[in-house]
Amino acid sequence: MVEPIFNYQFRLILIGDSTVGKSSLLKYFTDGKFAELSDPTVGVDFFARLIELKDGTKIKLQLWDTAGQERFRSITKSYYRNSVGVLLVYDVCNRASFEHIPQWMMDARRHIEPHRPVFALVGCKLDLVTNGSRREVSKEEARAFADQHGVHHIETSAKTGINVEEAFRIVTQEVYSRIQTGEYKLEDGWDGIKTGFYKPSGFDFNLIEAEPAETSCC
Ligand code: GDP
Ligand code: MG
Repeated sequence: MVEPIFNYQFRLILIGDSTVGKSSLLKYFTDGKFAELSDPTVGVDFFARLIELKDGTKIKLQLWDTAGQERFRSITKSYYRNSVGVLLVYDVCNRASFEHIPQWMMDARRHIEPHRPVFALVGCKLDLVTNGSRREVSKEEARAFADQHGVHHIETSAKTGINVEEAFRIVTQEVYSRIQTGEYKLEDGWDGIKTGFYKPSGFDFNLIEAEPAETSCC
């Protein structure tokens, strides 16, 4: 009898223009709070969180954030290669960040090939929209773009936390559905999807230390 710590591990990445709110979104999702972030250093940051789907399946999410590389869209190929899910992030109050989304999507598609990732278009900083006055990308326009490309769309705020959980959940759920339909298969040498880690029930480290296993043998 074994009990899963998690059934699968999915690797997701966040891409989009610098300052749209990618790191804040990740921070909120993994820490449950908004944090003023210091200037990014160049490289890649890594976060993890376990989530449980409606049917009880436990998924460990490995979440990768660019740290500065996105400033010049100079993201290294390996950042993309082992990903199964992509959050395409823009700022609802920054028109240019939305206009660059097709380019980000193309980069991701090209580098993740031959795998077909699950995409979600995520509009950030929803809290800044007061009476629509600061909004530069309408919900309808973003939704139309998402529908046209067959991807999910959601608007969030890492300040209030609205829809942050949901943004990661829609991608996770879709990856899981594609495993169930057989579209995604586990592959050696690809870290987009990995099988889980199981712990024998009743397994107790203290017990092992107190009572060393029998050494008698055949
Ligand atoms: P990144 O470059 O895409 O990782 O963006 P950051 O997460 O570093 O955020 C850039 C700036 O926007 C920071 O000053 C954040 O505090 C701010 N910010 C991020 N998300 C939100 C949000 O949802 N609402 C508001 N009001 N500010 C945000
Ligand atoms: Mg960042």
